[in-house]
Amino acid sequence: MRVAVAGAGLGGLCLAQGLVRDGVDVHVYERDSGLDVRRQGYRLHLDARAGLALQRCLPPELFRLFLATTGRRSTVVTVLTAQLRVLRRMAVDPNLDPGDPATLSTSVDRGTLREILAAGLDARIHFGRELVGYAQEADGVTLRFADGSTEAADVLVGADGVNSVVRRTLLPDAPVVDTGSRVIYGKVPLDDAARRLIPPAMYEGFTAIIGGDVGLAAGLVEFQRAPEDAAAEIAPGIRVTSTGDYLMWGLSAGRDRLGAPDTELAVADPAALHAVACRAIRSWHPDLRALLARTAVDETFFIRVRSSERVAAWAPSRVTLLGDGIHAMSPARGSGANTALMDAANLCAALTTGSDIIAAIAQYEEGMRDYGFAAVEASREAEAAYAGRGNPVWLWIVNHLPKPRGARGSVR
Ligand SMILES: Cc1cc2nc3c(=O)[nH]c(=O)nc-3n(C[C@H](O)[C@H](O)[C@H](O)COP(=O)(O)OP(=O)(O)OC[C@H]3O[C@@H](n4cnc5c(N)ncnc54)[C@H](O)[C@@H]3O)c2cc1C
Repeated sequence: MRVAVAGAGLGGLCLAQGLVRDGVDVHVYERDSGLDVRRQGYRLHLDARAGLALQRCLPPELFRLFLATTGRRSTVVTVLTAQLRVLRRMAVDPNLDPGDPATLSTSVDRGTLREILAAGLDARIHFGRELVGYAQEADGVTLRFADGSTEAADVLVGADGVNSVVRRTLLPDAPVVDTGSRVIYGKVPLDDAARRLIPPAMYEGFTAIIGGDVGLAAGLVEFQRAPEDAAAEIAPGIRVTSTGDYLMWGLSAGRDRLGAPDTELAVADPAALHAVACRAIRSWHPDLRALLARTAVDETFFIRVRSSERVAAWAPSRVTLLGDGIHAMSPARGSGANTALMDAANLCAALTTGSDIIAAIAQYEEGMRDYGFAAVEASREAEAAYAGRGNPVWLWIVNHLPKPRGARGSVR
């Protein structure tokens, strides 16, 4: 069986690793010219869905390298006011074992994870190949690329993200909607001066700061050990870029509530976006303003949050979808990457255990629609709660969030 994957993002690469491990001939076609040519974000929160999927798909040494390059674990999630008053503290279950994929709950650097996912696939990842369409025949699929070339495969997997060409062809009516939320993301490298400005709560785990119309989410990535040192010991020969510890921040608000019109933000350069973010928090605690001023300005970027809507079951075929390609969701619950990796593992299992390709894809799609769109809906609810930030209703919601096991603390 020859499987073609459109998109070398998290889901596409994880699937390719799993299929190679199971002896399937797989090729990944990626539009970009390399893994690191576009800003895609820094910190990801991964949970057991990702842990189990990566354990299933990665060769053992790459899985060990993944675990070794995760961030220091969080112990508390905190909600603060813009003046750094603690509104709520939620303890993370102390029984979670970060070394056990079934209870994983950790931060990772997206670039590092993608490098690990791409390791060993060099001859199978084809950069600069933008899929523009496909034709499905009775016994296979022909892929068409922007450069005029074609490729044949038995199965095509659309792992090509929220604007998926594969989805638009397979399911032209599947809606992706603008949620109205806007986020400017930035990254502060952790030197001594930045560390001194970080509120103590942020060292304990993910932090949400509420300030009028805007909110700021912040999370540290403090590697347990330098990724390149871990690679040298665990998987010599695998290239992992040196990345220092950092704080990721995301300033979010409703459309046109970030202090600049949406149309302007969509085309603004990183320095202009950084200036907008600094202006939006100009009345906040001086330490927060000083911290944002230490951002690596060139890495600032803007996103409009989009979300898929549930799609009724469709007839299975040789073409299928995974990740954001079918169930894009708001980052509000940190679920999109986890779900994409879970899809990859489930599709890999289906394709390598069943003898009938269409039946295998039908089985995968049935499960994926259930948990994938459930994750979209949960993320939409979380985002709706954040969208009301700053008003008493939002505080009420924060107060009444189900507490993780072992939670302590309460709103003052
Ligand atoms: C700032 C931010 C923070 C996030 N934080 C979290 C988090 O903490 N936890 C979490 O679980 N999720 C998080 N998410 C969501 C997560 O990043 C996505 O859900 C995840 O990346 C989806 O993986 P994917 O493989 O489906 O798509 P992607 O990772 O988007 O990969 C798609 C790939 O397809 C390529 N491509 C696109 N079109 C074509 C084409 N026509 N031909 C060939 N290639 C193509 C793209 O270049 C890309 O490489 C976050 C998202 C953002 C934006």
